[in-house]
Amino acid sequence: REVPKAKSDMAKAPRRTVTLTHPDRVYWPDAGVTKEGLADYYAEVWRFMAPYIVGRPLALLRCPSGITGEKFFQKHAWKGLNKHIVLVNDPKEKDKDAAPLIAINDLDGLIGLVQSAVLEIHPWGSTIANWEQPDTINMDLDPGDGVGWEAIIAAAEEVRQRLTDAGLAAFVKTSGGKGLHVVAPLKPKAKWPEVKAFTKAIADSMASDSPDHYVSTITKSKRRGKILIDYLRNQRGMTAVAPYSTRARPGAAVSMPLAWDELSPAIGPDYFTVLNTPTRLAALKSDPWSDFHTAAKPLAPPKRQAR
Ligand code: ATP
Ligand code: MN
Ligand code: MN
Repeated sequence: REVPKAKSDMAKAPRRTVTLTHPDRVYWPDAGVTKEGLADYYAEVWRFMAPYIVGRPLALLRCPSGITGEKFFQKHAWKGLNKHIVLVNDPKEKDKDAAPLIAINDLDGLIGLVQSAVLEIHPWGSTIANWEQPDTINMDLDPGDGVGWEAIIAAAEEVRQRLTDAGLAAFVKTSGGKGLHVVAPLKPKAKWPEVKAFTKAIADSMASDSPDHYVSTITKSKRRGKILIDYLRNQRGMTAVAPYSTRARPGAAVSMPLAWDELSPAIGPDYFTVLNTPTRLAALKSDPWSDFHTAAKPLAPPKRQAR
């Protein structure tokens, strides 16, 4: 991967070449963001976002009439996709007639998705070079009603602690919705079931250590005043929203990678948007996730239970 040389180089957006039809179509009426505005946003963030979306299967939330219209969560290719979008076949798919999955290799692919009214991008935690061995753990912190932001920050710090105790690096991003996501890079060694078991053990131990604060099962009724430690992203075929992806929700919020010391009451889960992200990136001294890939460690084999 090419490393940007200077800050000025980093700030420069690559040219996009894919032609947009209806560039003035409004996708976020409240924020005034159009299809062309979205394409410009993705060209701006491409250098930061690319490592997290290139070369992996993508689930996509399509909203042909913008966020106020119908929404389609699509895991498979559909007719009329832009030629820059890559179709990939899941090696474990048994149904020969199943539509292929979707991937992209470059900015043209991403703009091809914008052309198809894709407003959210949700990658797998493994790549198409290594389908069965995830290179990413996603811990999704979902606050129930009545949970304050400080408590969500504390939950993220606790997940971070448990990941680092296990020898992994942990990074944090806003979801662009209601919560935070703690993300850990993995050397792709362990397979999906082992990674899922590892993340379940973290969620279960947080819930049993602090039953007043955390739950690890998705039963909605049990969630009031508590935070769901949603580890279920960490299964084959499941996805989590990509860093820098927009959300199909009012305000045109995006999922924003942060440095841990940026977590504060001043930055809520939907603080960063299509509109203010270019300013943030231009002002950054360094990418808070620049070490993400070099920090990847293999999941240690499970410790034998003392008995
Ligand atoms: P929030 O902070 O509001 O929870 P989030 O992105 O974490 O934002 P969740 O509702 O927790 O949203 O969803 C977790 C993940 O489930 C999403 O990131 C996405 O990858 C996946 N997902 C979303 N919609 C669907 C859907 N319709 N079908 C299957 N999976 C979905
Ligand atoms: Mn969530
Ligand atoms: Mn969730």
